[in-house]
Amino acid sequence: MREEYLSRGYSLVYTPHVGRWQLWETSGHANFYAENMFDRMELDDAEYQLKPMNCPFHILIYKDKMRSYRELPVRLGELGTVYRYERSGVLHGLLRVRGFTQDDAHIFCREDQIEDEIVNCLQFAIDVLTTFGFDRYEAELSMWDGGASGKYDGTPEQWDMGQTALQKACDRLDVKVKVMEDEAAFYGPKIDVKLVDAIGRKWQLSTVQFDFTLPRRFGLEYIGEDGKAHQPVMCHRALFGSIERFFGILIEHYAGAFPVWLAPVQAVVLPIADRHLEYANKVREKLAALGIRSEVDDSKEKVNNKIRIAQVNKVPFMLVVGDREAENGTVSLRNRRHGDQGSKSLDEALAHIHGLVVSRKPFE
Ligand SMILES: [Zn+2]
Repeated sequence: MREEYLSRGYSLVYTPHVGRWQLWETSGHANFYAENMFDRMELDDAEYQLKPMNCPFHILIYKDKMRSYRELPVRLGELGTVYRYERSGVLHGLLRVRGFTQDDAHIFCREDQIEDEIVNCLQFAIDVLTTFGFDRYEAELSMWDGGASGKYDGTPEQWDMGQTALQKACDRLDVKVKVMEDEAAFYGPKIDVKLVDAIGRKWQLSTVQFDFTLPRRFGLEYIGEDGKAHQPVMCHRALFGSIERFFGILIEHYAGAFPVWLAPVQAVVLPIADRHLEYANKVREKLAALGIRSEVDDSKEKVNNKIRIAQVNKVPFMLVVGDREAENGTVSLRNRRHGDQGSKSLDEALAHIHGLVVSRKPFE
């Protein structure tokens, strides 16, 4: 993810887990988000709040210096851990927790840049979901009510600009989108991407949301070509939402049988007898040097049983080593899906596994 952020022009940032209470008053969370926040802490005559969101910190980074129209868009991304109070009754495994890490980003840009920025966000979301093996997804565009109820923040011009940009971005990427009237957040229109997993369940995941409220509350500015101060457009954007929840979804989707690049243990080395342990450890060191997550099964089990255990644990590759392998610098390679792959030189086996890891292929 970090590689992807950097190659797509994001700056990666890291922000504190607590902030002064006043920050949350300025952002408005102290008011409209209070029931989702943990209790305030009092320290040295000041009040602090465990963060339920990363946004206000990213805004402070934006505000840290005077911005010119030339340096926009500013894209700030963070794997940021947030804390939200959830009633104990709704907590559910990895899917609903009280502290979780968002793949969070905020984009600050000019109005003339917004459509391209939305296209980039959606393309990023599609690329990421496809890489993780999800090729079915649905998009929903949540709009306001035209201003009738007065519950939405922002001007009609802003809503029109935001909704048009979201719609056009979907058209450009040929993403079919369901329009949901009067379903927007009070601070701006949004697109939500729901993926469909292996057994047809839908999971709300990626979101791109305009925010017409925070730039005003924090007095965000940039200096335009005309030399005057202007308010930037701000977007919140998350691709997985919560990393913890996304892992829960991945485990369900793959039923634990992860593709090689995602498997917690990618290869296990299986010595036939204790006298092959030394060579087995050497093989494991070589795997580790390539960044491949591996283990040696040094138990007293017979090798067929070791294979069975690795198979049950859904380890993608098994490297069996005995007298012949130790002598010739080879391994007997097994693949979880296709079984025995025969004898390979150690280099050949390593290159094969490494190739599958770096290509992030969905299957071996
Ligand atoms: Zn945000």
